[in-house]
Amino acid sequence: MPPTPEDQDQPALPPLTPEQADKLPHIHRLLLGYYGQPPAHIPSDPLTQLIHSLLAARTKALAAQQAMRELHRLLNAGPNNWEPLRDASTEDIARIIAIVTFPEQKAPRLKLILQQITARVGSLTLDFLARYRTDKIRSWLEQFEGIGPQISAAVVNLSTLRRRALAIDANHLRVVQRLCITPRADAATTEHRLMRLVPETWDAAILADHHTLIQLHAHTLCTFTEPNCAPCPLLKLCPTGQRNQADLHLTP
Ligand code: SF4
Repeated sequence: MPPTPEDQDQPALPPLTPEQADKLPHIHRLLLGYYGQPPAHIPSDPLTQLIHSLLAARTKALAAQQAMRELHRLLNAGPNNWEPLRDASTEDIARIIAIVTFPEQKAPRLKLILQQITARVGSLTLDFLARYRTDKIRSWLEQFEGIGPQISAAVVNLSTLRRRALAIDANHLRVVQRLCITPRADAATTEHRLMRLVPETWDAAILADHHTLIQLHAHTLCTFTEPNCAPCPLLKLCPTGQRNQADLHLTP
């Protein structure tokens, strides 16, 4: 991951205490116990994952999946054949992906990114990225407008690249902040701090499972408007949940 400004010129960080080192594994075990093992994720090629992640930004997962199916149905676009999407008009793309949020913004962005990749690589593929280090891949992806750390993390972690990264979207950030796992910060800094807490033994697949469990939790109990803390398996670890429960008991 590219260094954040706060890392530059910083002395080496002290080793984690045993409690810090077990923080994410403890949360992971509790969420696994509550929600069960997430279904196995079948990774796509990096370009397909990139398109899916761009569609999925601030959108329900089911809507993004539906938009991917519509691109295939109406443009015959899909893995190893994204040229029809690149070459379609922005109006057509916006109409086809209308089920996701902000289709009128996502359509021209998608088209432009696919055109820029073609111009830089000479063909429309990201398979060559497999030869590079994770930090190089991420900075290469983030050179394109509209691709930030969340999307580059999703591409390297969830695609066939299968690298260690955590895609910190608004849901993931909210849960982490309520749990006070790391000091409050933006998504990029939060990912950097969380990755320090990730055990060496966690490979890309476990990180993808961890992200899925946090997403599930964010949509089930730790929702944006009204977290349901009483049955939450993380309540004992969560300062926000304990405060919420104490407030409930104080309310006449
Ligand atoms: S206790 Fe409440 S605020 Fe904390 S993680 Fe659970 S649902 Fe979210």
